[in-house]
Amino acid sequence: MRIRNYPLIFCVLSSMLLSPVFLPAAQSDSQLFHNVIVLIPDGCGVAHMTMARWFKGAPLAQDDMDISLVHTHNTNSMITGSAAAATAFATGYKTWEGPDKARCVSMRPDSLILPKPYKLPESQQWRPVASVLEGARLAGKAVGLVATCRVSHATPAAYASHWHARNDEHILMEQMVYAGIDVVFGGGLAYLIDTDSKIPGTTLAGRRDDGENLYDVLIARGYDIITTKDELDGLPPEARKVWGMFAPSHMYHDIDRHRVAPDQPSLVEMTRQAIRVLSQNPNGFFLTVEGSQVDWSSHTNDPVGTITEYIAFDQVVTAALEFARSSREPTLVLVFPDHDNGGMSLGDRDADYGSFQPVHMVNVINRAALTSDAAAWLVYTNTDNAQPDPDTVRDIISEYYGITDLTADELGTIMADLKDTLTDDLPRLLGHMLSRRAHIGWTTFGHTGNDVPMFSYGLKDVPQTIENTDIAHLCARSMGFNLESVNERLIVDAEMFFDRATVTIDTINVLSSAGQLIVEQDDKIAFFPFFKNIMVMDQDTLLFEGLTLYSLNAHRAYLPKQAKKLFDIR
Ligand SMILES: [Zn+2]
Repeated sequence: MRIRNYPLIFCVLSSMLLSPVFLPAAQSDSQLFHNVIVLIPDGCGVAHMTMARWFKGAPLAQDDMDISLVHTHNTNSMITGSAAAATAFATGYKTWEGPDKARCVSMRPDSLILPKPYKLPESQQWRPVASVLEGARLAGKAVGLVATCRVSHATPAAYASHWHARNDEHILMEQMVYAGIDVVFGGGLAYLIDTDSKIPGTTLAGRRDDGENLYDVLIARGYDIITTKDELDGLPPEARKVWGMFAPSHMYHDIDRHRVAPDQPSLVEMTRQAIRVLSQNPNGFFLTVEGSQVDWSSHTNDPVGTITEYIAFDQVVTAALEFARSSREPTLVLVFPDHDNGGMSLGDRDADYGSFQPVHMVNVINRAALTSDAAAWLVYTNTDNAQPDPDTVRDIISEYYGITDLTADELGTIMADLKDTLTDDLPRLLGHMLSRRAHIGWTTFGHTGNDVPMFSYGLKDVPQTIENTDIAHLCARSMGFNLESVNERLIVDAEMFFDRATVTIDTINVLSSAGQLIVEQDDKIAFFPFFKNIMVMDQDTLLFEGLTLYSLNAHRAYLPKQAKKLFDIR
């Protein structure tokens, strides 16, 4: 069976239309899927899964799936960050994410250290690389991203944007708005709104300092924008293009949401609606869902947040498998963490492994009503930092974090931390205090370089041990294309491309997400603003099928082949 390539429907604001372009298919023996669903519990390893299973008291949804093993190192470290990890499984390229040099999002570095030192050819240095989501969209599939963090955070962003610095989220968010994604659910509303405007429904100002109001851009492009769980539940059946922005910044942890933000939807509620909307497309869909905050609770070494976030993610796996098993069309489901985190272990050095029972861990965790982050926040907001009242502190921790037997030493440590205005270590301190009682071990507040498992549903040929980059190629193959053809079509070096024209790369204010490519030829002049999919010529704005990209480190601009065609026939 071959998947038909539908022409991409692109919107041209003038009367101009281009002929459709088709993607070369992957090799003909590939197993093809109508739909591909990628589910990522961010920042966890096998220990998190084992503990979640004991906590749930039943098998996890993933336990029925096939299993492979994934290597996660990036080009400069055995321990990857999220941006390099996401670049690998979104684009098929390992990249650089270090404290220095760059923290690349779907962009290549100039050189590698691992697996062996290698300097890239100049044309490849700091070059943006296309993602499977971009390829899926060209192949006519509906595409979606769901997360509980700001959607401009590394993992979702790597599927739709390209930049050397993951922290420049205003730049990543702009690309995501212009990337033609059908469904985006998560947090990050503030990054759509400029600093002079208020975030709708709040008194808070937006976070964009480039003067752009991307909220209005989404409306102009025909998106429904929703901000509450009720609006998500009530999405009309005909909705096809939706941005659900359920928090100004990140959404709340699952266990905290019920108490603190009940109008935010859960991850599984967002996932079910995303699948419902995307699956209306007759040519199938590609969806990535990130359980973003397993990672954050692991960074905090908070067993309550870690395990409850994994349980919330497990419901997402259940929902995806229900869809895949009931769908008439073949659907591939992949489940894999981007990297391990925390060095978490079931059992610490004080555990008696001859008699360690589930109740010894589960009951301790179950007494907590909130994550250690939320419990610490309650302590911070209900006590005077200069003179914290020990009884109030003890009561809050007992009621909300379930530690009813704080020792005098532990209370002393907490009081010292509260009085020290330079630290806010309380979430970690609480996490460790509860972990000691549950005999859960931790080795680091950061990621680890351990291999991670990948669970799959639908593959006839299950991979054994793979690199994280292989996941991108697997996704592309499964949808009938190869990533190289997407790169050739979407990411062409502008100066090589417009050979007869004068090309100027205007980088004024590029770090505030401004800047543009200017192309002049004969009596024509066209402007291609960076991070958008538009060409402005003679007062007209014309849309094309990919983004105009800029690489700061290479000082090169890139754009889709279609943009040149648009320029030439104009
Ligand atoms: Zn991560």
